[in-house]
Amino acid sequence: MKVRVDQSLCTGHARCNAIDPDLFLLDDVGYSSIDTVEVPPGLEDHARQAEANCPEHAISIEVD
Ligand code: SF4
Repeated sequence: MKVRVDQSLCTGHARCNAIDPDLFLLDDVGYSSIDTVEVPPGLEDHARQAEANCPEHAISIEVD
């Protein structure tokens, strides 16, 4: 599984980071700083929760 953040849609609510601060890294001003990352085993639910909770629909999931 991969998680992708469309940084052009991110407006910095940081909900993703609140769900998993290790998976959803933020820059110095609170915007997502990741593009596409492999989801480590065991964190799939966090990826799905973040996708469902991003108010800008900036987060999407790719299943291998
Ligand atoms: S929850 Fe969505 S809008 Fe907020 S920081 Fe994460 S990707 Fe950006």
